[in-house]
Amino acid sequence: VFQLSVPLNFLGSIYRELRQSLLDMETLFNLQKVNVSIKEPPTAKQLQLTKGGEIRFDNVTFGYHPDRPILRNLNMTIPAGQKVAIVGPSGCGKSTLLRLLFRLYEIQDGGIFIDDQEIRTVTLQSLRKAIGVVPQDTPLFNNTIEHNIRYGNLEASAEDVERAAKRARIHEIVEGLPAGYGTMVGERGMMISGGEKQRLAVSRLLLKDAPLLFFDEATSALDTHTEQALLQNINSILKDKSRTSVFVAHRLRTIYDSDKIIVLKDGCVAESGTHTQLLEAGGVYSDLWNAQEASPDDLRDAERDSAEH
Ligand code: ATP
Repeated sequence: VFQLSVPLNFLGSIYRELRQSLLDMETLFNLQKVNVSIKEPPTAKQLQLTKGGEIRFDNVTFGYHPDRPILRNLNMTIPAGQKVAIVGPSGCGKSTLLRLLFRLYEIQDGGIFIDDQEIRTVTLQSLRKAIGVVPQDTPLFNNTIEHNIRYGNLEASAEDVERAAKRARIHEIVEGLPAGYGTMVGERGMMISGGEKQRLAVSRLLLKDAPLLFFDEATSALDTHTEQALLQNINSILKDKSRTSVFVAHRLRTIYDSDKIIVLKDGCVAESGTHTQLLEAGGVYSDLWNAQEASPDDLRDAERDSAEH
C-alpha cells in the first residue's frame, strides 16, 4: 500500500499545482485562450524572494505584434514592500505590464526581474504562485460561492474559506443567502453585484496569500461609496504584512496616497514620484489630476447606480 500511495500522492500534487497555475491564468485572462508557446529552460530555478519582492523592468520593449511596440525601452522599479500605483491613458499598456510579469508573452528586448532574478530563468509555477491578482472583472464559475472563493487555493479548508470571506467583508452577505456558502452563483446561478464580486475576488486573493499583489482597476466598476469601502478594506489587509502591491488605476483619487506613482505615456515612464512631487512637477500627472478633480464624478456615479437598478 505504501509503495503505491506515494506515487499517487505525488501525481495528485502535480495535478493540483498544474490546475492551480491554469486557474491563475484563467482568472487573469478572463478565461481567454492561454499562450502555450512560453516555455521555461531546463535549468529553471524556483523564484526566491530574497529582497522581499522588488519588481524591476529593465529596458523592456514589447508589442503584441513586433512591428507595433506598446512598450519602448521601459525602465521602472517597484520597490519591495511598497504600495505603488501605475496610471496613464487608456491603452498605454498598464495591463500589459502585468501580463508580461506573469510571463504570458515574451518580451522583445530587455529584462524583467523579481529580486534580481530574471523571470525567464525561474520556473513558471514558482513565478505565478508568487503573484496574486484582482482583475478588472472577476470571472465567476457556475458553482457554489464556497467553490468560487476556493479557486484562490484549492487546498484551503472550509474554515480557511470562511476566514478569508470574513476579512474581505463578504461573509455576512453570504450568510444571509438562502443556501449560504452553498449558494450557486454565475450565469446559471444567482447573480451577485459588482461590489460583491470584487469582495469575492479579494477573498480569493487572501487565500492565495501571494507576496506580490496586483489590483488591475479592481474597483473601477464600483460606485464611489462601495469603492471607498473596499479600498479601506484592502488597505487594512495590506497593513498586516509587508507585501509589494501594485494598483493599476484610472481614478487618481483612489491611489494618491501610494508610496510611489508611476505614470506611463507612449510606451515609457513619463514620470514617477509621490502625489505631492508629481503635482509640483506640473507634468502629465498634474494635468490628469486637475482634469479629474474638475469632472463631475458624483454625477457619473449617480448615472451608474440608476443603470444598475
Ligand atoms: P486600459 O486603461 O484601457 O485598461 P491599458 O493601459 O491597460 O488600457 P493594455 O490593455 O495593456 O492597456 O493594452 C495596450 C495596447 O495593447 C492597446 O492598444 C491594446 O489594444 C493592445 N492589446 C492589448 N491586448 C492585446 C492582444 N492580446 N493582442 C493585440 N493587441 C493587444
